[in-house]
Amino acid sequence: MVATPIGNLGDISTRALEILRQVQRIAAEDTRHSAALMRHYAIDTPMLSLHEHNERHKIDSLLSRLAAGESLALISDAGTPLISDPGYHLVQHCHQQGIAVVPIPGPSAVITALSASGLPTDRFSFEGFLPSRSGARTTRLQGLVNDPRTLVFYESPHRIVDSLRDMVAVFGAPRVVVLARELSKTFETIRYSTLGELLSWVESDPNQQKGEIVLLLHGADEPDPKAVDPEASRVAALLAEELPVKQAAALAAKITGAKKNALYKWLLGRE
Ligand code: SAM
Repeated sequence: MVATPIGNLGDISTRALEILRQVQRIAAEDTRHSAALMRHYAIDTPMLSLHEHNERHKIDSLLSRLAAGESLALISDAGTPLISDPGYHLVQHCHQQGIAVVPIPGPSAVITALSASGLPTDRFSFEGFLPSRSGARTTRLQGLVNDPRTLVFYESPHRIVDSLRDMVAVFGAPRVVVLARELSKTFETIRYSTLGELLSWVESDPNQQKGEIVLLLHGADEPDPKAVDPEASRVAALLAEELPVKQAAALAAKITGAKKNALYKWLLGRE
């Protein structure tokens, strides 16, 4: 599994180049597209095509070649194979048949975008491409509305405006978002913004609706563990009108199931 550049041809490791020269064959998503990379690095290893539509069909012949000891490098048009790209079935079958799978690490748009996003990266969810129809897209987004992790989407240029509109409707205009476009290329753009502001900006500038795009959305705020349930605080406040604070907090906790200490502190805080 050999990662190749996501734009700038310089972003390929020396190990990846060595492997592409050494293997007997390179399986490429689009052999014509990858020919440019091969020409650039003077690699003349024979290529065969392995894409979304022929992967299952070609698996048996590829597995037989591998089982016979042939070496095969898998590349996609850009970035890391299998990341929103073909190869999953091949890798799964290799493992099932005891054929070694060796990853050669390198660029991927998801990690490249995250590293420059300024959003939390300790936990994130890669969501790939959203459904193309608005109804299905909205349903998918609604399932993510309370997710506290940074959400990363791949987006196509002709759907960016519609997707941003759906995101504003589901997550609200103030949610922080980052648009990472044309990474490592001439028109690289990284914009840290809110959903509402980003939508207006992208709508008003057709250049921002071009090229390759990653959208990264700030996760939902985690509920504050010290926050007091509104009903419990209402009961505590009423009781505190008649009783000492400590007693009011204890009684309100018994009535509502809220934490006595949290209610006590909340009552003291308003004094
Ligand atoms: N395998 C690739 C990877 O590792 O990132 C992803 C392939 S996927 C078919 C293509 C999508 O990745 C694009 O539509 C875009 O969302 C994202 N992408 C790829 N290259 C990019 C770049 N240079 N800048 C921004 N996004 C990019």
